[in-house]
Amino acid sequence: MKVTSSEIVISAVKPAQYPEGNLPEIALAGRSNVGKSSFINKMLGRKSLARTSSKPGKTQTLNFFIINEILHFVDVPGYGYAKVSKKEREAWGKMIETYITTRDQLRAVVLLIDVRHPPTKDDVLMYDFLKHYDIPTIIVATKADKIPKSKWQKHIKVIKDTLQLEASDSLVLFSSETGQGKNEAWRIILDYSGK
Ligand code: GDP
Repeated sequence: MKVTSSEIVISAVKPAQYPEGNLPEIALAGRSNVGKSSFINKMLGRKSLARTSSKPGKTQTLNFFIINEILHFVDVPGYGYAKVSKKEREAWGKMIETYITTRDQLRAVVLLIDVRHPPTKDDVLMYDFLKHYDIPTIIVATKADKIPKSKWQKHIKVIKDTLQLEASDSLVLFSSETGQGKNEAWRIILDYSGK
């Protein structure tokens, strides 16, 4: 998709702050440093629209972006950062659970996984959580440019096997460096968004 406009709508922590209207939403989740901001920026053709607001130590908010006036991306703060207090972790969990379980506009979640390593325990927990609530999930395997092409299939298999990826969920190999996977990711996202 050619993105002609993208901007942040609101940083929300509770449902009263979610944007009104009926635009389809795609949420994006992943552990800290997985390449989520880079993915969002690459998809939107922006240098730094998604950035520090979701970094560890910053206020944990759901950041809603409006794209071409037709859909929302919802940037979920990264998980798995060791230095987060138990209290902060609990607040994060509550915020995500409320969003996932109450938001009618949610069409699918993009779950980002670093292609170089097997999914972490937290990645598996997140995938299981999404499947528990029947949320369609798109796995984006990030940083493809960091491993040789000859190893891609092996790493993809480890991700699929570790998550026990359901057949209805898709997996896209992605690189924000080369743009690999961008068109495929857009196709899947627009499909889930009914666009
Ligand atoms: P976030 O914490 O998930 O938002 O991760 P960032 O997007 O900030 O990326 C974390 C680090 O990984 C940064 O140094 C990025 O430049 C790097 N990175 C992200 N995506 C890629 C990628 O596709 N290829 C390479 N080589 N580096 C990447």
